[in-house]
Amino acid sequence: MTLLGCIADDFTGASDLANTLAKGGMATTQFVGVPKGAAPAGCEAAVVALKTRSINAADAVRQSLEAADWLIAQGCEQFLFKYCSTFDSTPEGNIGPVAEALLDRLGADLAVVCPAFPATGRRLFMGHLFVGDKLLSESGMERHPLTPMTDPNIRRWLRLQTSNEVGLVELDTVRAGPDALAIAFSAERAKGVRLVVTDAVADSDLMTLGEALAGHRLVTGGSGIALGLPRNFLRAGKLATQATAKAVARGPAVVLSGSCSTASQRQVAAYLEGHPGLAVDPDKLMDGSLTVDIAAAWIAARDGAAPIVYSTADPSTVTDAQQKFGRAEIAGKVEHFFAGLARRLANDGVRRIVVGGGETSGAVVEALGVTSLGIGAEIDPGVPALVADRGGPLGLALKSGNFGSDDFFEKAVRQIGTP
Ligand code: ADP
Repeated sequence: MTLLGCIADDFTGASDLANTLAKGGMATTQFVGVPKGAAPAGCEAAVVALKTRSINAADAVRQSLEAADWLIAQGCEQFLFKYCSTFDSTPEGNIGPVAEALLDRLGADLAVVCPAFPATGRRLFMGHLFVGDKLLSESGMERHPLTPMTDPNIRRWLRLQTSNEVGLVELDTVRAGPDALAIAFSAERAKGVRLVVTDAVADSDLMTLGEALAGHRLVTGGSGIALGLPRNFLRAGKLATQATAKAVARGPAVVLSGSCSTASQRQVAAYLEGHPGLAVDPDKLMDGSLTVDIAAAWIAARDGAAPIVYSTADPSTVTDAQQKFGRAEIAGKVEHFFAGLARRLANDGVRRIVVGGGETSGAVVEALGVTSLGIGAEIDPGVPALVADRGGPLGLALKSGNFGSDDFFEKAVRQIGTP
């Protein structure tokens, strides 16, 4: 029976959350969209990844409720709505409308709102969100292209999106412990408040808060809010004490890097010191002299060497290609190439695929047609080893651009399976 059902408003946020829950000791599966079938046996935490952060509020509500209905059907006791730790939203939503709709659907009367994630500098004090030493509205987020965050007061910002008053529980109460928090939540309930912004500036605050949230039907927050939740299930004796044997991917490996971040440039350079590499030249993709067939044949000839195919390039090369072909055209072409190549390689027997780049990863996962991902050990902070079932175990690592140490690709290839 699945215990904790999570709804995430984007893909990389879902992975981050799944990683936190797995580290906390819960057997966790991440789903790409709302699944058709049941959760796999032994799944204690299910994370449904949606793409609802920047769509219109009515659609976000509809999709989130669909996910909630599926999670209810899996028997979940507690539900978590995960959004970004910078509270990415507009005065119309989508955090407020989705949270209120989930409260209604779950028959819950109150949910905390806590985007704090101290490990990445997101701290909430007196309901005001900080990024490092800056207020959210002075952190650069005020210029975000889709969700400009011009007010650091989360209570005030959320109130624009909701039908009810929004409450506040301050840090002093959090530090006074779970009993004080329970009293504060009851007081908010008595006022008719349904969403309560709750301060947290350190991981220890999130652990205290997590303890106080045992029994709350709905919890909302960034991935930090998940830190303290697994322990509640563990204490209640509900988690399997022995990890169920995980399927291990066995077979050839390949690395596909479509990210041009500075970290990716270092990671590709480091990996090329020990492995063969095929550089993807945008000119060749555009004129058809590099195709999926050609790249697949090049990889097949290097069986066993875990080669890398990369479009990773320095900023001036990328700018040149963008000026020549158009930014969207070249991005689409490169993503389409990696997606097609990944599908072709998986069909041909490659069993371990490491992908660099957030958009590139999304394109690859979609092309592979995998809809559920088992969460394994953490490779580097925020990036777990993943295993999908695609005619047997397929090991994956999906790394967004700036994550990972310089030797990430080498570690990932080894951690997601065996030759
Ligand atoms: P990151 O996580 O670093 O942002 P993404 O995969 O999300 O990486 O985004 C990188 C984008 O750049 C993708 O759309 C990809 O197709 C595109 N891209 C990759 N290589 C090149 C290149 N050499 N020239 C132009 N665009 C590229």
